[in-house]
Amino acid sequence: MTGKRVAAEEEKKRIGDLLLEAGVVTQEQLDEALEEKNVRGGRLCFNLIRTGALKADDLLTFLSEQFGVAAVNLDHFQVPREVLERVPEEYARSEKVIPLHLLDNTLTVAMVDPGRGEVIEELERVTGLGIDPLIAPEASLVSALGKYYPAPGGADPAAGEGVLVLGEEKEEKHIYLATPPSEGYSSEDWLKRFFLQSIRRRSREIHLEPSELGLCARFRSGGKMVKGETVPGEVRKGLVNLALTLARIDGRSSAVSPMEGRMKVVVRKRGLPVTLSSFPTIHGERLVFKIMDEGLVGRGFQELGMSKAVADETRRILGMTSGVFLMNSPPGHGKRTTFYSILDQLRSEASRNIMTLEHPVQYPVPGISQTQVSFGQGVDFYHGLKSLMRQSPDVVGLSDISDCRTLELVFTAARECLVIGLCGFRDSREALEWLGSCRVNPKTQSDLLRGILVQRVVPRICSRCREKQDTPADLVEGIRDKNPEDLTFYTGVGCKACGQTGRAGWLGLYELLPMNFAVRDLIGRKTETQIVYDEALRQGMWSLQEDGIMKATQGLVDVRDVLESTRERGLDD
Ligand SMILES: [Zn+2]
Repeated sequence: MTGKRVAAEEEKKRIGDLLLEAGVVTQEQLDEALEEKNVRGGRLCFNLIRTGALKADDLLTFLSEQFGVAAVNLDHFQVPREVLERVPEEYARSEKVIPLHLLDNTLTVAMVDPGRGEVIEELERVTGLGIDPLIAPEASLVSALGKYYPAPGGADPAAGEGVLVLGEEKEEKHIYLATPPSEGYSSEDWLKRFFLQSIRRRSREIHLEPSELGLCARFRSGGKMVKGETVPGEVRKGLVNLALTLARIDGRSSAVSPMEGRMKVVVRKRGLPVTLSSFPTIHGERLVFKIMDEGLVGRGFQELGMSKAVADETRRILGMTSGVFLMNSPPGHGKRTTFYSILDQLRSEASRNIMTLEHPVQYPVPGISQTQVSFGQGVDFYHGLKSLMRQSPDVVGLSDISDCRTLELVFTAARECLVIGLCGFRDSREALEWLGSCRVNPKTQSDLLRGILVQRVVPRICSRCREKQDTPADLVEGIRDKNPEDLTFYTGVGCKACGQTGRAGWLGLYELLPMNFAVRDLIGRKTETQIVYDEALRQGMWSLQEDGIMKATQGLVDVRDVLESTRERGLDD
């Protein structure tokens, strides 16, 4: 015990010296923090943060750079039991380390300070494995220790996710039909009301934005934001606290950086996973809830809306051992659902090491190593991917590729594994233009790009009240070799089953730019994107709009919804 304390003293002094040498803190600040430490106890780093000399994020970045290892956010890391068992619980607790991943003979371990050689040596001895350290913030490590090694004899309050039960049909009606909300509405009533309103509007995103007036709700539905009610000032704080508690977000530390958490809502006995992201603004926490429909995730590609040709080509690409597959849609158009369906499909292949970096992890997929990036804590997609590549992945999923630096790294990584990345482009031309504007050379693109998938989601027509409608000939120019007058379109006129909306559920529209010989050749010669696109069409690719019009003639969707969501660029932006 004494030996350990001495080692700990040395370590504290060493971190202080390192910070001083690097000019991150001054001698004065260091002295002040040491004094504070003598009075109030705790680690030196913590006291540097407490005295304001250092921000938690800066410390993490510093340590990460100092030791050349990546930082990781453990909040949503799913560690398999057999990996946890590699490190004795008592040791994990006392040294604040958590094993995360085991590959070949290397164990990846999260720790507060990877500069502590004695801990790494001890871990190597205990486990008989090579140790690859990652940095994690202390608070996150402590909370993860609580989650993975619950205290005996009592449930750990930090473990698991909170559940909000929205109630049975009767109560449900009572809560969202009472307009305006009655006086005595509690914060829980408000939260339930927003979830029920969201589900009723078929929206998967609830935004609660703080202002002087209170907390204003907005719902995102089919890519559009719709204004909702405002929570009065007196209930607002309670609502934010309730939401943070349910999602297991520590409200005290969220003043510094955005935080993510997960919870569940139960409606009609069905549990829906929800992610909560909280972001500090000058008026208070801004909250975004995203509701995942678990029922959608496991669905086959064709159930999501892919044509057989697109589904087959997607499967062919997923079977490849290298290259880049880019999936695109504007926000709220379901690319994450497709992403998870792809992961779900891939996980059945136990022979491949599949890893993801996500922001946030919306849905845990068993059998896949998912890591949440946390910008506030210095883990971005670029550094995360760099570190992840040391794990020899066969397939890497990235929930967001938005800067050239990351894209360039993706193309480097794609020589060794298949990278599936999500981007926000509206169509494949935009995506191609972006590839050209980043420093990915045309030859590399031509060699490694496997396909660009673009999608939209549109409401499905309710099958109980579907009727033929007069062909809006002025709206549709015809499709391929068919004239508009030869096509039949449908709409939903509204019935009890669909709440008079004429719509029930969603369907994806897809366009997949395939990398056949002709297209690759054009890309390799740095051809204008429109020419590449036209060649793909000539080779048989269906455009997003054609895919939608085809689905409209099958009575699945209303052609007006298709046209609205697939309008050419320039009309609506
Ligand atoms: Zn209906």
